[in-house]
Amino acid sequence: MPAVDLAAFVQRLPKTETHLHLEGSLPLELARRIDPEYFGTPPAYWRPDFRFTDFAQFQEQFDRYFFKWFVSPENYYESCRRVFADVVAQNVVYLEASFHLGTAERIGDVPFREIARAIRAAVPAGLEFRLFLGMFRDHYVGPLAKIVDEAIAWDEIAGVDLHGFERPEFQPWTAEVWTRARSLGKVTKAHAGEFASAADVRRAVEYLGVHRVQHGLSAIDDPAVLQLLRARGVTLDMTPISNVKLLAVPSMSAHPIKRFLDAGVRCTVSTDDPMLFGNRLNDEYAALAREAGLDRATLVRIARNGFEVADLSATAKANYARELEAALTA
Ligand SMILES: [Zn+2]
Repeated sequence: MPAVDLAAFVQRLPKTETHLHLEGSLPLELARRIDPEYFGTPPAYWRPDFRFTDFAQFQEQFDRYFFKWFVSPENYYESCRRVFADVVAQNVVYLEASFHLGTAERIGDVPFREIARAIRAAVPAGLEFRLFLGMFRDHYVGPLAKIVDEAIAWDEIAGVDLHGFERPEFQPWTAEVWTRARSLGKVTKAHAGEFASAADVRRAVEYLGVHRVQHGLSAIDDPAVLQLLRARGVTLDMTPISNVKLLAVPSMSAHPIKRFLDAGVRCTVSTDDPMLFGNRLNDEYAALAREAGLDRATLVRIARNGFEVADLSATAKANYARELEAALTA
């Protein structure tokens, strides 16, 4: 019988969350305000045994509230304030989250930068926060391209991310903009290998030059891509419950995270879109322990990985590493 039960152990670990979409995190109580009937009870997709039939169904559920809620800096603030408070309540001390470029099309005369400012204004004391601008692979067109060009220089932005359904293939603009963002000191990420093949992960690394791949699951199928991830020191920001519910993996017990870790690839764990999966970060760690058989030392290793890639001082990272070791030996 463990001295500390699993939930208490996970809660005690200082943690990072490095793959979170702010629009995918709307608290249910706020969704109720825009559609009291539909969101009157927790949605079916919150059930642990729920599986989305495909990404289109996921997108459909997302769209049900996205276009109504995420339309102003005030609404972003109100949602983020709650999301950040819940993150802190789980002993998450460092958060990287993205907001969606498409919002720029629906906020009228309000400058898009006001959204970034509202999100940052919602960050509570004690939480280190880094904001990423997320966009689709074919989003760099018309006025949105101009916004991206400007936003990569904003102080409010720590970096950029490509998200969505991993289609089409990476386009030429991305490599150029991602290189420019890095030259401005920003961190570049890309979603790859969740649904697309290991070749997609290779392209994210070689063509876009990212060191942070969101998901990257399919890389497990290709030893050469695994070698590439190791050689370049690429981190995979994984989201196990999301992967199971979207059928990117057949089950939690079949999730490849342990195999990646054993292969020497750094992985972290996050929630992706809590509004669509009904998950919290502590649930992710608990599910990996209960259903994928990860022992506590491996959970600690995953938490430590988050701090290794975090934009924190060497002193802060060392302190958290010590705190994690202490939790393991307690
Ligand atoms: Zn994601």
